[in-house]
Amino acid sequence: MLKSPAGVRTGQVEVPLIDLTAQLATIRDAVDEAITRVVESQRFVLGRPVEELEERIADLVGVGHAVGCASGTDALLLPLRLLGEGGAGDVVVPAFTFFATAGAVHNAGLRPVFCDVSEDTFNVTAETVDEAWTTDTVGVIPVHLFGQMAPVEEITARARERGAWVLEDAAQAIGTVREHGGRTLRAGGVGDAGAFSFFPTKNLGAFGEGGIVTTDDASLAGRLREYRIHGGIQMYRHDVVGTNSRLHTLQAAVLLAKLPWLEQWNEARARNAQRYLDGLAGLPDVVLPTTLPGNRHIYNQFTLRVTNRDGLRRHLDEHGVGSGVYYPVPLHLQPCFRDRGHREGDFPVSERLSETVLSLPIFPELTGEQIDTVIHRIREFHGAA
Ligand SMILES: *Cc1c(COP(=O)(O)O)cnc(C)c1O
Repeated sequence: MLKSPAGVRTGQVEVPLIDLTAQLATIRDAVDEAITRVVESQRFVLGRPVEELEERIADLVGVGHAVGCASGTDALLLPLRLLGEGGAGDVVVPAFTFFATAGAVHNAGLRPVFCDVSEDTFNVTAETVDEAWTTDTVGVIPVHLFGQMAPVEEITARARERGAWVLEDAAQAIGTVREHGGRTLRAGGVGDAGAFSFFPTKNLGAFGEGGIVTTDDASLAGRLREYRIHGGIQMYRHDVVGTNSRLHTLQAAVLLAKLPWLEQWNEARARNAQRYLDGLAGLPDVVLPTTLPGNRHIYNQFTLRVTNRDGLRRHLDEHGVGSGVYYPVPLHLQPCFRDRGHREGDFPVSERLSETVLSLPIFPELTGEQIDTVIHRIREFHGAA
């Protein structure tokens, strides 16, 4: 029997939904050293580690600029404030995503307009975005949900024809790509800007909060740098009213120490996913996640669609297997967006997904035995063990 890091119950392999202590063992020395260097410098705000991380992330995404900020939510909010230029307007966002995508639009003084998603990929398509388009639409936020890209090149081409901008929500998609039309498109590098999160459970996680905005637009990057320090690069001169949203130097140092591992972690997630795909094939009540041709999938989540989702979740829980529901309520039915006047049935795919999705443990350090345990429990629940 495996002695899993989360602890042992007799006769049972425990499989937590996520276990960050397993990753810590890999990176401990490098991270300890990086933290010590920042502590000894006593320079905790911006500085060289932040600049270096910005350069590395810009390279990874294939754009000219990256600007660190306090969280993934701020990596959406800050460019929205600047792209929206303080004015009003509608921004098309998926109904099926993490709340921050729409919350940031609202907090930037813009109006989130919801669209449905594809049942196969969980992502928006050019068609679902088109259906939601209003005469007041000024921008779109395609989300690269769970670790594979939405068809952002098509969405961006259509948006530009209409004079609108595109902000990619790439919080769950750091390092992923899409081969399309003979080109390699990188998450966060196709639209006007991309937003990434370093929340600990993302594929590249900090020891706390952090985020970064990517863009090829030098003027937008400059304005973001100004905006994150109260709208003034020069001390005590404020050209615009900004805010305080900086990436902590300690977090940048931790992220720099972890970055060399990102590619291996993303590959390990994909290997784990393949083991699930093989082991769970052919179950009549389980729909496995699909990857679009040309897409790389880095599985921030491995998400099934299951008829009796809540029953399966209980069964897994009773047998020491963690799982998660991302996301149980589509955004158009959230109480805070009541004034949009939506009702059940408006976005049927998003609603069906919220009732059927179940995410399984997929973190890179999972063992084969742990994955096989999860597979066994799911097959057992469906009478196919
Ligand atoms: C995590 C996440 C965010 C927000 O990131 P934070 O760092 O938690 O603020 C935004 N959008 C999506 C899709 C996310 O998964």
